[in-house]
Order: sequence, then C-alpha cells, then structure tokens
Amino acid sequence: MREVKGYWQNYIDGAWVDGGAGRIDVINPGTGEKIAEQALADARDVDLAVQAAKRVHSTGVLTDMRPVERGRIVQAMGRYLLEHLEEIAALLSLEQGKPIWEARIEVTGAARYFEYYGNQAETLEGRSIPLGAGYFDFTTDEPYGVSAQIIPWNFPVEMTARSLSAALTTGNTVVVKPPEMTPLSNAWFAHAAEAVGLPKGAVNLVCGYGHQAGAALSAHPDINQVVFTGSVATGIAIASAAAKNVVPCVLELGGKSAAIVHSDADLVAMETDIRKGIFINAGQVCSAMSRIIVHESRHDELVQRAVSIAESLSVGPGADRQTFGANMGPMVSVKQRDRAAGLVSEAVSQGAKLVTGGRAMNIPGAFLQPTVLAEVTPEMTIAQTEVFGPVLSVLRFREDAEAIEIANGTDYGLVGGVFTRDLDRATQVARKIRAGQVFVNEWFAGGVETPFGGYGKSGYGREKGREALWNYVQTKNIAIKLKRT
Ligand code: NAD
Repeated sequence: MREVKGYWQNYIDGAWVDGGAGRIDVINPGTGEKIAEQALADARDVDLAVQAAKRVHSTGVLTDMRPVERGRIVQAMGRYLLEHLEEIAALLSLEQGKPIWEARIEVTGAARYFEYYGNQAETLEGRSIPLGAGYFDFTTDEPYGVSAQIIPWNFPVEMTARSLSAALTTGNTVVVKPPEMTPLSNAWFAHAAEAVGLPKGAVNLVCGYGHQAGAALSAHPDINQVVFTGSVATGIAIASAAAKNVVPCVLELGGKSAAIVHSDADLVAMETDIRKGIFINAGQVCSAMSRIIVHESRHDELVQRAVSIAESLSVGPGADRQTFGANMGPMVSVKQRDRAAGLVSEAVSQGAKLVTGGRAMNIPGAFLQPTVLAEVTPEMTIAQTEVFGPVLSVLRFREDAEAIEIANGTDYGLVGGVFTRDLDRATQVARKIRAGQVFVNEWFAGGVETPFGGYGKSGYGREKGREALWNYVQTKNIAIKLKRT
C-alpha cells in the first residue's frame, strides 16, 4: 500500500480540522509500531459537529428529496468504498491487525450495507387509518434528526457503515465518533460523502477519547438518537446520558454466545464454524462462538477437532496474511491481549483444562495463541465473562434441558447456535435459546438482511435487516377533519 500519512484530522462540517484534545498515536498491533497520529476531539469539536448536522437536517435537504434519490446517494457511497477496496482494506489491516483478506471482507460487507439500505429508501411507507367519513388520517415515518454513532474498534469500517447507511437512507444527518484505537479507516466515509455530493455537515467524524468526545456526544442536548456498539459498562453510561435528554438508544453490547452441539452433529462440517466462530478477527467479535456446549458422547472428539484447528493457524501480522487461509492476526492492543490472557489463567486456576494456546506470544505485537479450554463449568468466570479474544471454552451436557440452561445462564443473549441433524430438535432448542439470533448448523448464517441484536445485557434495538430502519425514524400521525360537502 501507499505510505500512510503521518497525521489524520477530524471531519466537521465538510472541513478537515485539528482536535481540541490533541492527538493520539495509532499503533499497528501486528508490530507494536506507530502508524500515524489522529486528532482527538474535545467537547467543543463535538458541539460544532452536532450543530453542523442539526443545521443540515433543518434545511430539509435530505428529507425533502424523493426517497429514491436519497437511496441512490447511499448506494453510491457503497460503490465508492468498493472502488477503493484495496486501499481501505490495507489501512484497516494495519491499524486493527486483522489479516488483509479479513479486512477485504469487512470493507465489502460495509459496502453491502449501503447497497442494502440504499435500496430500501423508497420502501418506507406510512398507512392510512380509517376514522369514519369525517376524517382522513395517515402516518408518516420521519427521521429523528441528528444520529450520534459511537463505534467500536473491532470492526470500525463495518460498524460505521451499518449505522451510517441506515441513518442516511431514512434522512438523518450523522455525527460519528470513530474508535480512538482504530480511527484511520473511518476517514473513507468522509471521502465517500464528498464523492457522492452529500451537503457539508451531513456526515461528521469526531474521533476522541470515549470519556471526552464519546461522553460529550452522547450527552449532547441536540442529538436526537444514539447508536452504540461496545462494552456493557459504556453502554450503560451512554444510555444514562441519553436518557437525561430523553433520546432513544440502540445498544449492541457483546455476548458470551454458545453453540449447543448434539450427539448427532456433523463435527467435520462444524470445523469451519469453529474456525470462523472464535478465531476470525482474533476472536474480537461480539457474536463470537465463545462457548461450545457439547453432548458428553462427542466431547473428546470435539475438543480434539477444536485443538487441531487452533494449532493449524499461522499467527502473525495481518499485512503478511493476504489470502484466505488458516491464519490469524494480533489482537487490537497489548492491553486487550493481556486481559484475555489473564482470563485464561484465571480459568485454569478455577479448574479449567488448558488444552492448547493460552499464552501471549513472545514476538512484537499483541498476539495471543489460539486457545482452547476444556472442562469449563458454567459458574467459572471464563464461562460468564466476554473474553473478546481467540479463546474457546468447551462445556459438556447430558440432557437437552441442561444444555439450554447452560446456554441461557449468562447475563448476555446476543446469538446462539444449535448443531444437530434433527430439525425438530433444532427448532425446539432454537425457540428456547434466549438470544436475538440463533444459527442452526452454521455459525454466522444470515447477512445484512437478517435482524441482529441482543436479549438481556447484550443490549436492545436491532441492527441489520428492515428492523434496523425503525431505529432511525419516528412515526407521525396526521389526522385531518374533513368538512362534509
Ligand atoms: P468501550 O465500550 O469502552 O469502547 C467502545 C466505544 O465507546 C469507543 O469508541 C469508545 O471511545 C467509546 N466510549 C468509551 N467510553 C465512553 C463513554 N463514557 N461515553 C461515550 N463513549 C465512550 O470498549 P473498549 O474499552 O474499547 O473494550 C472493552 C470491552 O468492550 C471489550 O473487551 C469487549 O468485551 C467489549 N467490546 C465489545 C464490542 C462489541 O462489538 N460488542 C466492541 C468493542 C468492545
């Protein structure tokens, strides 16, 4: 890739600007080396961005447009990302650590959101409610206004695309707070907004620390809606701040998701699911398959297969991993890596068996060996806490009811999975899993089209699918009293 420029600014009201809170070093977690500096926004910068977004919204430039035209603009943003696929993927891999081939999938997935939601722009229709001959009554779905979007570092391009595309499609203007650890690739959304001719101020990027820019944005009195993906603690802080201004939130807060593997499961086919489920993005996936609850009759075979997958992975810097294959990059930072390694040590001290991996690798960068823990029991910390790393916990069960109880026995409820050849059993179990999405015989089955979001502490509101559009609009009812003629 081309040389990365040394300093990256924020994007407010169509201009690239310095930040009131200085700069942060952006580190390549595959080498530990500094890539560039990113401007950090303070509360004043956030206010300027919100005022710009508010002004553009109030002009009606997006809302007065025929929806098909707005949809075409949104779709064009996706095409722009694809036209720059290699550049964005290289930058994303560098700052986040993921292999280049994973970064390409992320950028392609981001473009897909703009395609999908852009296509839906003209499908939002109100309804007419009969009130008798004396009235004509109808509803319209209107955008909230300024959508505030606070983005995590694990999939910075895809997460921004997910909320930005839906918000613009429905006619909102947007202030994005990119993650301070992986902010650089988000600059492409500003380039895309300019390339497709969105008015200045319709899309703003204010990277900053969570406790500064993030807190200022979520508590700003002129935002009208907040979307957040990240940790539970931060989600609570954001929802509390938004509540003070009576602003609605979408919270997507991670999970401790379980695959229930029955005695008749196809474990050969399932190897691909384990590979994707817990080792893609070095396990830093909110919907990761972080627990497998396996019938005792297949326990040893499953553990052995999981170990061979973990040990087959070549681990190293994402930039050296160009093509799809058995490989894995670093975690996003040494701090996250050490936290994950600490949780593994704690699991062992509580009686889990470390079957493979578990150690920080003795090379520069934030690498953790792909890890499999067996003999995990439901009350252990590792069975309850989101590791957010390449760490698989294997638990066993005898009766179906026990498997469901274990699967549902955490504070979370993001996704779940059932692996069995018996469709009746799969359906019954799927109905009992307390999660927003259940995969049967393929982890991550679904796509941009399928609604995604949590039960319990995994959050509320839905991203993806048509359901997500309802986060960005509010219903207005118009009742007209008619004169009798
Ligand atoms: P975090 O929740 O602190 O950060 C996510 C985003 O929120 C970042 O943009 C951050 O700047 C912002 N933020 C932080 N504090 C804020 C505040 N008070 N107000 C407003 N915005 C704020 O996550 P983290 O500390 O980077 O990671 C910690 C844990 O979060 C991880 O180990 C993982 O369990 C979880 N996580 C989950 C996801 C997910 O996809 N569900 C993504 C990232 C992190």
